[in-house]
Amino acid sequence: MALPSRSGNDRIASGDAESEDAELRAEREAMLRDIADEVAWTRQEIGKEALDAEVMAALSRVPRELFVPATERRFAFVNGPLPIGHGQTISQPYIVALMTDLLEPRSADRILEIGTGSGYQTAVLAELAREVYSVEIIAALANAARARLARLGYDNVSIRHGDGHQGWPEHAPYDGIIVTAAAPHIPPALLEQLKPGGRLVIPVGLPEQIQQLEVVTKNADGTLTHRDVLRVAFVPMTRDLR
Ligand code: SAH
Repeated sequence: MALPSRSGNDRIASGDAESEDAELRAEREAMLRDIADEVAWTRQEIGKEALDAEVMAALSRVPRELFVPATERRFAFVNGPLPIGHGQTISQPYIVALMTDLLEPRSADRILEIGTGSGYQTAVLAELAREVYSVEIIAALANAARARLARLGYDNVSIRHGDGHQGWPEHAPYDGIIVTAAAPHIPPALLEQLKPGGRLVIPVGLPEQIQQLEVVTKNADGTLTHRDVLRVAFVPMTRDLR
């Protein structure tokens, strides 16, 4: 039951907040429809008609508008990447959804992410897994994402400023590892830190070129199975701490 407003001003203010909420909800739903459309267009490559319903529900819960700079806010729900400063981007919603789906995170899982950026992918993972560890090479982005995720109440996330080529050995092994920057080769430390039965999702290829989004499964006997999923374009994995 709605509480009676104390004054006309309160009523106007809460009315505005409600219409803003409704608008954001509608924009988020439109983003989910755009993702579903792009999944359908790419069904041949990705080998599925639709993404996992829990992954889509997680995307519907994370307030993407709070992960983009204020100047980009009106584009927050457009199905494309956006600049987040320092020459980096927040990934396209379809790519975030697809990579999360390919990782198949479960509620008991411990996940490692390389390339925190805005922290948006981190938040989506934190909705689905028990613990998320994320490494970001640019200190300013790591600090901003840490503060943002804490403000939003994500208490199962840890962020470290460092070079993701080394993974995060202190919390290994991981049930799943996701890399959101392109590497010419898969960093060996990441394969070492993956549990048997675990999955690594990573764009492999040279910077400034089209890369292959790969899913690598570590089998029980330690051997690896590779699957190429989709041609993608990511910012490069770099080596210099900034
Ligand atoms: N998932 C992020 C994507 C950010 S773009 C988002 O949706 O917002 C890729 C990120 O990887 C950038 O923030 C970049 O600084 C970071 N990065 C590049 N090389 C890295 C490395 N060696 N270790 C950790 N992070 C790296």
